[in-house]
Amino acid sequence: MRARIYIVGIGPGSREHLTPRAVEAISSSEVVIGYRPYLRQIRELLGGKRVVEAGMGEELRRASDAVRHALTGQRVAVVSSGDAGVYGMASAVLEYIARKKLTVEVEVVPGITSALACAALLGSPLGNDFAVISLSDLLVPWEEIERRLEHAVAADFVVVLYNPGSRRRSWQLGRAKEVMLRYRSPATPVGVVRNASREDESVVLTTLGELEALADMLTTVIVGNSRTFTYRRWMITPRGYSSKYSMEGDG
Ligand code: SAH
Repeated sequence: MRARIYIVGIGPGSREHLTPRAVEAISSSEVVIGYRPYLRQIRELLGGKRVVEAGMGEELRRASDAVRHALTGQRVAVVSSGDAGVYGMASAVLEYIARKKLTVEVEVVPGITSALACAALLGSPLGNDFAVISLSDLLVPWEEIERRLEHAVAADFVVVLYNPGSRRRSWQLGRAKEVMLRYRSPATPVGVVRNASREDESVVLTTLGELEALADMLTTVIVGNSRTFTYRRWMITPRGYSSKYSMEGDG
């Protein structure tokens, strides 16, 4: 049986961050489905394929399109930026299949998620426990987002914020900043990375107190924990907090 759906994370932007398995999955598919900017990101792999472009917020349609093509015996790749399982298409496709009780071959191909691509540009902000929180309240009520954020900062997790804002959602990051300042010092290091591994890449190191609520949809914000510090252009979260921490023998 040839029919199969690949749900593929294509990484944050550049070709170097696309895994060989992702290239293989897309190359062996007859149909490729995705949000327009992501298809542009992999355009050199799309020659001779049926390409189904979808707009933002059409996840369910993309999922049902994928299943429809697969059920006619084709190989389909559904692409998401970063990792497809992190606020991406994997849940939409699998939920659809589960709800309809269908039998379809599926392979989820992992990709480098924004948290990791952005953290690498900042140095080592994720050297200890961290929580990833999306500030998008389009699919999740704001109260729930705020409750999770509050618990994460109270528990001293490093916090990675996806979807910090957009033209339509302009107050969320400011509100999140207020919540975080209840538990964390204004001097807490914050990294703001826009377009990691893409043309307009920008990396800004600031503090929680100075964080401007201007972030857009192409930005990820990483807020340090109480031990995170900066040195030159790096944001560093120590691996160990105890005094017996040694620089040796640690993976
Ligand atoms: N599946 C994606 C996340 C989708 S949610 C992943 O694993 O990365 C969309 C959010 O991801 C954006 O609002 C932004 O916060 C973040 N993002 C996506 N690509 C990015 C990039 N190249 N640089 C910085 N942040 C990015």
